[in-house]
Amino acid sequence: MTQKITIAIDGFSSTGKSTIAKQLAKELGYIYVDTGAMYRAVTLYAMQQNYISDSHFNPNDLIADLHNVSLSFIFNKSLGFAEMILNNINVEKAIRTIEVSRLVSKIATISEVRKKLVSEQQEMGKNKGIVMDGRDIGTVVFPDAELKLFMTASADKRATRRYKELLDRGDKVNYEEILHNVQERDRIDSTREDSPLVIAKDAIEFDNSDMGLKEQFERIISLVNRNFK
Ligand code: C5P
Repeated sequence: MTQKITIAIDGFSSTGKSTIAKQLAKELGYIYVDTGAMYRAVTLYAMQQNYISDSHFNPNDLIADLHNVSLSFIFNKSLGFAEMILNNINVEKAIRTIEVSRLVSKIATISEVRKKLVSEQQEMGKNKGIVMDGRDIGTVVFPDAELKLFMTASADKRATRRYKELLDRGDKVNYEEILHNVQERDRIDSTREDSPLVIAKDAIEFDNSDMGLKEQFERIISLVNRNFK
């Protein structure tokens, strides 16, 4: 590829965004950034500081303490992707729990949190050659991205995929709980005031309910090669 581009991948929870994004980045030699991991890391911090739990939520305490939240990624060669670092601690595993999943969409409604993370994401992508996945990448973070993809799939298919992923990790999981979490996160993410999850007008929509991720990846990479080579 002659000119490096920016690829924005948005969509609902557990639609395989990160799998596709990682493969694309590897194939193109681009940087991959999982912005969901950043919102999850802030959520973990808020849980550790007792600003949020299932029974309480003090956004103002988190906002006042946000300057103490330092986020970075470190590339793990054996895994082939970058892991999330929160205040010098590797939290890649800790941010994937169902407890964090239950609370992250509430944290993602806080404008001050979004402002901080969006500006860090824009900085990471300023030289292009990046694949970023999330909920507001094509609409807010990189509205000028050359390629915008929007992923959807039925809630049942998404919950089943997530369930298998967590089982494979050895977590104790309940399918109903995961289905509820996926639907609840989509509801909060799509209806929040600041940067709701919406499809950018120039995004290409992919419904992968009945499509394997391999087939989807092949379609996307041929789209990239056709348009940006
Ligand atoms: O991508 P992942 O499912 O890990 O994201 C976790 C949550 O982080 C989402 O449900 C959403 O609430 C929030 N998020 C967001 N904006 C992004 C990425 C994630 O609000 N760009």
